[in-house]
Amino acid sequence: MDNVKKTFSKPGCIYLSKLGFIRLRNHREFPASAVSRVNIKYHAGKWYANLTAELPDVAPGEDSAKPVGIDVGINHFAILSDGTFIENPKHFRKLEKKLAKEQRRLSRKIKGSNNRGKAKGKVAKIHAKIANQRKDFLHQTSASIVKNYSTIVMEDLKVRNMTRNHKLAKSIHDASWSRFKTYIEYKCKRQGKDLILVDTRGTSQTCLCGELVRKDLSVRIHECPTCGLRMNRDLVSAKLILERGLKTA
Ligand SMILES: [Zn+2]
Repeated sequence: MDNVKKTFSKPGCIYLSKLGFIRLRNHREFPASAVSRVNIKYHAGKWYANLTAELPDVAPGEDSAKPVGIDVGINHFAILSDGTFIENPKHFRKLEKKLAKEQRRLSRKIKGSNNRGKAKGKVAKIHAKIANQRKDFLHQTSASIVKNYSTIVMEDLKVRNMTRNHKLAKSIHDASWSRFKTYIEYKCKRQGKDLILVDTRGTSQTCLCGELVRKDLSVRIHECPTCGLRMNRDLVSAKLILERGLKTA
């Protein structure tokens, strides 16, 4: 595309027809020659350029023929049935604290005042930044999982009643998780991988041997009196989720 060729002809810049060359801050590296479409969007005081690129298929990872079960984490984002823990990025917390601070500041401003308008803009900016970082994280994580496994088994969110929970942190987590599922879904489709959704009820109270092992949320280590298994409780869940998925397949 000739148009696009000109768009990135100057290093560190993007060419826009009515404005000329503008400095570009990219969130990650991209091959300019592969970009097929540029979409300009204005949001919360900033201009964004969404780039669409056609990239060659990624070479599958070593274990790409293996199936995997994924469980939602409480202290981390997710756990894979092979023992991989996916941490929540630390920068989320930092920005969320900053957001809380700016929101308090905003609440003290007088309605209709100039300062209130400014404070509002600040809050919106941080919101947008958090949303962007979250999306980036979910894209990267889902891409690496779909690349590395053949079949992916996860919780069917429709089964769970998510609206019952009023805790903010939890609801944000649920929202991330459902977006994560969407990303996994379309990446699976694109790469010919399988996604299986299962009802995960009971997986936190069951052992791999099938025995019922009751434990409340404060108990992090699963210990089975019947078979003697001792394992991180979320890892047990992830393994059970995988098992359920493979049974239904
Ligand atoms: Zn057991």
